[in-house]
Amino acid sequence: MEIKIARDAGFCFGVERAVEIVREKAKKGKVYTLGPLIHNPPMIEKLEREGVLPLTGKADVKGKRVVIPSHGLPPEKFTEVLREADEVIDVTCPFVKRAQDMAKRLEREGYTVVIIGDSEHPEVKGIAGNLKNSSLIFSCAEEVPQSLPKRIGIVCQTTMNISRVKEIVALLLDRVEELKFLHTICNATAARQQALRDILKEVDGVIVIGGKNSANTRRLYKISTEEGKRTWWIERSKELSGMDFGGTGKMGITAGASTPEWVIREVVEYLKRL
Ligand code: SF4
Repeated sequence: MEIKIARDAGFCFGVERAVEIVREKAKKGKVYTLGPLIHNPPMIEKLEREGVLPLTGKADVKGKRVVIPSHGLPPEKFTEVLREADEVIDVTCPFVKRAQDMAKRLEREGYTVVIIGDSEHPEVKGIAGNLKNSSLIFSCAEEVPQSLPKRIGIVCQTTMNISRVKEIVALLLDRVEELKFLHTICNATAARQQALRDILKEVDGVIVIGGKNSANTRRLYKISTEEGKRTWWIERSKELSGMDFGGTGKMGITAGASTPEWVIREVVEYLKRL
């Protein structure tokens, strides 16, 4: 079987940075992440063995060395962690911090802030929570109301799909007097999607590697299946055992932004042994 790995696949800059920082910190004793650090079970298991442990729900941070995850935190939670934790390890991705700062800038300039993103996503809660006034949050065109403030300033969740953003902005343009758009979308997910599209023309099937809880991996799987390719979504190489790849002369490989390079390598090595 011939194998073609997508040009952009696996760890993005923000995830790689976060993992490197916490691993270094864990060498000096256990650290606790607020929720899973990334959406990739094999990597989370590896990190747990190295002393990076996820805290769930309302777990107590008192006296612990606590990691602020790459998607950031709303300020009230941040303040609680600062007050209670023994040490705060902030690995908020610089692109997420930039989105928070841009939203604050729009507010200072007198705009009502609109965040294009998923209102339940911790990153969006973090951007909204950092503002003095309440913001408007839209994840799709259907959510945009007829009546809006006269002056709006827009930022986006860093992983938003650009086509969806364009649809929403087009509607807003018709319904307000003044609109300012600050581009806060991170290129990492778009680059992975484009790299997959580029190899789809030349492969017979695709293996998508990434956590089943990873939204950007799900998008890669969707792109491949919508193009009519036989597609397998796995989290780790051992899931390949017993799968039927008959008729797949050339296999494409892609991976979500939380998938480490060693997991991709294991999958490639397994396929080469077939
Ligand atoms: S996807 Fe972009 S914004 Fe999110 S962690 Fe990765 S680099 Fe940062």
